Amino acid sequence: MPVEIKPQISHAPVWVNCPASERGRAVHPEPDFPNPAREEGIACAWVAEGVLKGQKHGSEFLGRLGPNAVLITDEMLEEVIEPYIRRVKELFIPGCTINNNPPHVEHKGTVFALPWHPEARKDSWWLDIRAGICYVLDLKAGRIREDSVGNWQLAGYFVELEPIVVDACARHGVEFQGFHGELVQPRKENGPPWFLRPNELAPLKERMKQRGVEAMGPNPEQTTGPWCRKCPKRHTCTSYRKSSDTILDYVDTYLDDDLGPEALEAEMALLQEGLERIKHRLSGVEAHVKQNAREGKSAVYDIQPTYGRQNWTVGADIAIATAATFGVDISKGVAAKTPKQAIKAGVPQNVIDAISKSEKTGLGLVKRDPENDRELSKKLFGESNNV
Ligand code: SF4
Repeated sequence: MPVEIKPQISHAPVWVNCPASERGRAVHPEPDFPNPAREEGIACAWVAEGVLKGQKHGSEFLGRLGPNAVLITDEMLEEVIEPYIRRVKELFIPGCTINNNPPHVEHKGTVFALPWHPEARKDSWWLDIRAGICYVLDLKAGRIREDSVGNWQLAGYFVELEPIVVDACARHGVEFQGFHGELVQPRKENGPPWFLRPNELAPLKERMKQRGVEAMGPNPEQTTGPWCRKCPKRHTCTSYRKSSDTILDYVDTYLDDDLGPEALEAEMALLQEGLERIKHRLSGVEAHVKQNAREGKSAVYDIQPTYGRQNWTVGADIAIATAATFGVDISKGVAAKTPKQAIKAGVPQNVIDAISKSEKTGLGLVKRDPENDRELSKKLFGESNNV
């Protein structure tokens, strides 16, 4: 049966570089396991949306569940949501937009310039009509650094917004100066923003069009590179496998005993690159092994929930006041120490457990203990006479 392929803007960093990845996504979708980083990102974006739309203050979300049932913790607020909101407010000059509109938040649009009309969902964007600059910001809650400059997801947003902002500028007699695109990554050092002049967009639009059409066609090109880490086909892709195997083969080759500083640095860079590729392939294979374990098809592995850090489900002031009733000071400026530190400092565990929670972060593989299996078998079926 033919598979439907419709490249999404959020996956553009992969399919623009390797159009074959979209066929892989359609034919070999990655097993659906909770991905803690992705789920946390969705919950953070939900809180940021509420705050930027003026519905609530960030702290009012603390201890609540996001739309995907992820608990909003003080760590998420402090480390991700508040820095992102600060960055939006830093760039958004009140009164800079038409009719003094606030930024568009979690805004869905359609990229009409691409033949298959994909959807583009931007975390926040606005047109500074006084300067003729369109700002597009995307929140990345994860810990893997991504560059804003040249990012194809941002390019997709620019392509969608171009006719809207050019028309608005023309109506207000302003010359459109370009796009300011930024991936806001509070857990990593933000790279420089991407400023793209209007005449620089056409070649990017053309490349997205070509690569997207190729991805939907019968013989898309397959190209390995750093984008493979996000590809659902990475566990079986022959090209990716070959590129990692070449590095493994290299590890076995003869090396001079006396490497100079430059050769040592080159060796280190090569091994780091190899290690990264193997880690990404491993994560793809692991997802499928987990799927087999979940369906009871593995003789070696079981699957069990994994838990992350224990977080407060109440504000820092309540946590500090609760600890103080036991004569323990857990304040750290206006913040509170972690629940684990509070227990260590002498607050009873059951008290801390009532005002904190360890979130289920996903499902992990555990190797079966053959001894347990034998015991269980003995209980169920008695001693075996088989030799
Ligand atoms: S693993 Fe890499 S080379 Fe293979 S299909 Fe995916 S993106 Fe392309």
